[in-house]
Amino acid sequence: TLTDYQGIEIENAAETRVEPVNGNDLYLSADYNVQCYVQQAAEKVLKVKKAKRVSVILMNPQNGEIYALVSLPEYDLNEPFVLTKAYEAEGKNQNDKLNDMWRNPVISDSYEPGSTFKIITATAALEERKVTLQDSFFCPGFKIVEDRKIRCHKTQGHGSETFKQGVMNSCNPVFMEIGARVGAKDMLRYYHKLGLYERTGVDLPGEANSIMHKLDKIGAVELATMSFGQSIQITPLQLMRAVSAGINGGRLVTPHFALEKKNPVTKEITEYEYKEKAGAVSKETSQTLREVLEAVVAEGTGKNGQVEGYRVGGKTATSEKLPRRSGKYISSFLGFAPANHPQILGLVLIDEPQGTYYGGVIAAPVMAEIFQNVLPYLDNL
Ligand SMILES: [Zn+2]
Repeated sequence: TLTDYQGIEIENAAETRVEPVNGNDLYLSADYNVQCYVQQAAEKVLKVKKAKRVSVILMNPQNGEIYALVSLPEYDLNEPFVLTKAYEAEGKNQNDKLNDMWRNPVISDSYEPGSTFKIITATAALEERKVTLQDSFFCPGFKIVEDRKIRCHKTQGHGSETFKQGVMNSCNPVFMEIGARVGAKDMLRYYHKLGLYERTGVDLPGEANSIMHKLDKIGAVELATMSFGQSIQITPLQLMRAVSAGINGGRLVTPHFALEKKNPVTKEITEYEYKEKAGAVSKETSQTLREVLEAVVAEGTGKNGQVEGYRVGGKTATSEKLPRRSGKYISSFLGFAPANHPQILGLVLIDEPQGTYYGGVIAAPVMAEIFQNVLPYLDNL
């Protein structure tokens, strides 16, 4: 018989028993070997640059399949309540420290992307026909916007340059200018088209969303800083998704890990399906973007991202963390290959590196090292 906590018999409480059944097998896009290559490169740069964190994502920009995701420092999944050294020292309570250790910044944290976001601005300007690769510009080292003098990273200026050279130089005044040509309203329309106002829909928990200016709060200064990736915040995965659409012919894909599940008894396979939205970018603009981003790596600020025997496209970024002038940076490099038909897109983020902090100098070589291993491996799959 079944009784309640006082021992009184419960009437009509026939025992029911549900026999356990084996769960389905889950098949993921994560690739053990690719993950090992990425892990190795990330651990090396974390140590050499004495960085606070290093994150790397590798995915297929054609369909959103994630091949590898690393976020260091890590913890032991078998001992989730044991704080690792990296999270011990901070003056927080135990719960906050554990939450810091458990969180996956690639998915749960937004950041100011800096110059990798210029890809988004370029996409909008090309798509709106507000600029062509041959248009000429002049960078004196700054641009006056209303009452503010906003500097280029090259303070002595880039001088005369075409738009293509402006992208290769990662010249801020060029992007402020084309951002102004597009205008705030249309710029936000492209943010929408490129999925920057929504979560990516990745099949992992705790995904954050972007933090953007409201249209009525965007003056000339805000528009200028947005154009080179400041004063807005997005997650690394939102950036990956938007750039994927930019370079894959305009399809907005859903980043994901789960491919299919298999019933171990019936052997029945169910494939997972993910949302895909075509037409985020035209094929022509996508082609132009691939071309100009290949030039960034071939002869611009992304030179250290080159891999012998492969056509690589990409963009560097060095963003100063808030509050400004704290001397804390996030250095990053976003790269893809082969440049003419991208099969892999990677993002390396080095949070608070010590010493040299330029993305082109410290993050691009990490991506190159990963690509050197991963590209031949994928070719042979
Ligand atoms: Zn410049």
